[in-house]
Amino acid sequence: MPRLALALVLAALPVANGIAQRSATADVVLVNGRVLDPETNLDAVRAVAIRAGKIVSITASVPAARDTIDVRGLVVAPGFIDLHSHGQDSVNYGFLARDGVTTALELELGTYPIAPWYAKREGKSLINFGASASHPGARRAMLDGDSTAEGADVIGATGAFVRSPIAAARLPELERRLEVALDDGALGIGMGINYTPAATREEIFHSFRVAARHHAPIFVHLRSAGLVENAGGIAGVQEVLADAAATGAPLHVVHVTSMGLAATPALLDLIDGARARGLDVTTEAYPYTAGATMLQSAIFDPGFQERMGIDYKDILWTATGERLTAESFDRYRKQGGLAVIFMIPESAADQAYRDAPVMVASDGGFQFANGQPIGHPRSAGTHARVLGRFVRERKVISLMDAVRKMTLLPARRLERVDPNMKHKGRVQAGADADLVVFDPATVIDRSTFERPAQYSGGIVHVLVNGTFVVRDSTLVSGVAPGKAVRGPVSRKPPPRADSLGER
Ligand SMILES: [Zn+2]
Repeated sequence: MPRLALALVLAALPVANGIAQRSATADVVLVNGRVLDPETNLDAVRAVAIRAGKIVSITASVPAARDTIDVRGLVVAPGFIDLHSHGQDSVNYGFLARDGVTTALELELGTYPIAPWYAKREGKSLINFGASASHPGARRAMLDGDSTAEGADVIGATGAFVRSPIAAARLPELERRLEVALDDGALGIGMGINYTPAATREEIFHSFRVAARHHAPIFVHLRSAGLVENAGGIAGVQEVLADAAATGAPLHVVHVTSMGLAATPALLDLIDGARARGLDVTTEAYPYTAGATMLQSAIFDPGFQERMGIDYKDILWTATGERLTAESFDRYRKQGGLAVIFMIPESAADQAYRDAPVMVASDGGFQFANGQPIGHPRSAGTHARVLGRFVRERKVISLMDAVRKMTLLPARRLERVDPNMKHKGRVQAGADADLVVFDPATVIDRSTFERPAQYSGGIVHVLVNGTFVVRDSTLVSGVAPGKAVRGPVSRKPPPRADSLGER
């Protein structure tokens, strides 16, 4: 090396060291908080240091940082991961962030097609987002030539896809459509069999085979719910457990309490029994006694009272807040819109949450009328409600178990399809800095059936990939740190749009 060059290198060394030291300074350190990590069972006062979107250390001493925040008396937990979130827009993301959610995924009904859905949210999202491949959406594209409904909007749509079977000869086309969506990065396949009652058992079985080939989970709203013999929640679970066993597809049964109603313990026994015999099957519940869905959907086809064990008065019309009668039911069903259904026993959510592997998921998503959010209070309050009412007030489950159900368990559900989920749902060095800081003494849902669009209380700070989205219980504006959660994108080259009859 020429002497001059060597001198330059030596002269540069202290500067390089200085840069290294400065870059070792954390961006943010949360100090004096009670840190919960549901994987290692850490429950202790620690300093959590964040740099470049990642957690870099969890220590008893306090490292240097550009932004040091004292969170004494508060809990620092992994940000909540909601596997069942229909509200995939900026207003809903705000309500979710104020409820501690850092990742919201539309997995029950999914979306179809996949690529444009992700493209629309990339770089613009407050929290992390993702979706499964929509079985009803793919059906609608085949039978109605229409794939314009995004996410759960498909269940508000009408058309042949609701009540027409797919001929056996056309099942390979359905499989191909679902394959393309998975190759585009869908996190699995989502289906609401109850909403497409004409989907035959053979069709559902074929869809499970697609999921199995991709090692992708299949998220199912069962064919039947409630207590009617041979057409209730037990029969619904038995169908999909058989398909999972026969194909090897990982299975996730959505909202077990609104499927099982008073038979929820039997559904849990079926799911736990299948898992004990080696099947990869999981489930979730929301912490409310009412469900919600579109009044025009097939769920309310004749006989719904017997199926759900309800009467008209148990249905709340969200647009006006009124309870329905036979007359108003018929009128609003023709008009279409969101209804809340009081049908779940008080005991069902307790039974579900006491079952260790059962996750918390909201099934939420506000719709909009005249620009105002309307819908079920679960859209804003699910996670704070579990922490405030099920943990603190009623002591149904421990704080660590509740956090595990909202973080580690949903992350693990998706690790095989998106390996980056191994870095979420944990407070560990190297994990993504998706964090929620809440006050365990005051955290509470404020959203009610009468006034659902209320932010939760006691959620103090929320960070997504190291960026504050909630700070001092206030939404931060002008930030979009949310990233896509998605499976491997393996489709090459993209098929021509006309080859699938897409619009
Ligand atoms: Zn559902």
